[in-house]
Amino acid sequence: RVKERGRGNFSFYQPQMSAGLLSRMRLEHAMRQALDKGHMSVYFQPQVHIGSGRIVAAEALLRWTDPEFGVVSPAAFIPLAEESGYVVTLGAWVLEQSVQEAARWHAQGMFIKVSVNVSALEFRQPDFVERLTQVLHGSTLPAHWLELELTESILLQDAQEMALRVHRIAELGVGLVIDDFGTGYSNLSYLKKLPISKIKIDQSFVRGLPDDEEDKAIVGAIISMGQALGVEIVAEGVETPEQCAAIEQMQGGYFQGYLCSPALAPLQFRQRLREDADGSPAYTISSEDD
Ligand code: C2E
Ligand code: MG
Ligand code: MG
Ligand code: MG
Repeated sequence: RVKERGRGNFSFYQPQMSAGLLSRMRLEHAMRQALDKGHMSVYFQPQVHIGSGRIVAAEALLRWTDPEFGVVSPAAFIPLAEESGYVVTLGAWVLEQSVQEAARWHAQGMFIKVSVNVSALEFRQPDFVERLTQVLHGSTLPAHWLELELTESILLQDAQEMALRVHRIAELGVGLVIDDFGTGYSNLSYLKKLPISKIKIDQSFVRGLPDDEEDKAIVGAIISMGQALGVEIVAEGVETPEQCAAIEQMQGGYFQGYLCSPALAPLQFRQRLREDADGSPAYTISSEDD
């Protein structure tokens, strides 16, 4: 980071360094300390089976509250962590926490899957599958209750090596999920070659439902494709009963979104799971009876 200016002249803060860059550096510095200081935690957002109204899975989402910066959105710090390589450390921690927490749900008789985001850099680590195997060995959670969320772009670069990796992970029993489906450039041939268990329709296509004809066409097509390929489809970012009803009409099986719940702290999420087990539906779309 130390820039050389002229002969033997060094300075850390360059006068021309933008405020943006400075705050990025401060943010990155804080991020690297946040784990040890206990400022990060993993929250869980329910995924709901539309037909039964039951919670079937939860996505692990990293949360960071910094004393100086306040709540920092993953949309802001994950890209920073990716650029600096720190996402490998963060991701390993999230995976460990998520598997531990899911093992707790199971110990309490609540059998749902946990779904963990994996960034490209993490997935590309040569020892990624070994570390995943170790985490599973160190836990009572059977592998098939864990899913990993990848984006399409991860599979494109170094396609052969990545395909090999995906197959090894599937052999462990871990589910593979395509996240933000439809937003990346994609060559769909990977869908017939790779053991993908689930596809998450990006929320940008869900937002316009039920009125936007183009969104409806796209979501409908993804759902049909999923049925033909035997892949589960989850609609992301469902906020309204109308959006949910539209997905149900198109035979979409699952959703995740504020209509059911935002991501919750582990204790709150467990409470929510218990309520679900007690028979109250995870969400309601009827407006007539209340
Ligand atoms: P994602 O994996 O696509 O996660 C879904 C995002 O949509 C989450 O944002 C979630 O809070 C948000 N969301 C869920 N339901 C709704 C809804 O009904 N309406 C709206 N407007 N938003 C909804 P979040 O938690 O801010 O995370 C953003 C992204 O950051 C994630 O997108 C994921 O790519 C990344 N991320 C979060 N946690 C991790 C992590 O532990 N590891 C990695 N590698 N990436 C993560
Ligand atoms: Mg995700
Ligand atoms: Mg997504
Ligand atoms: Mg994503």
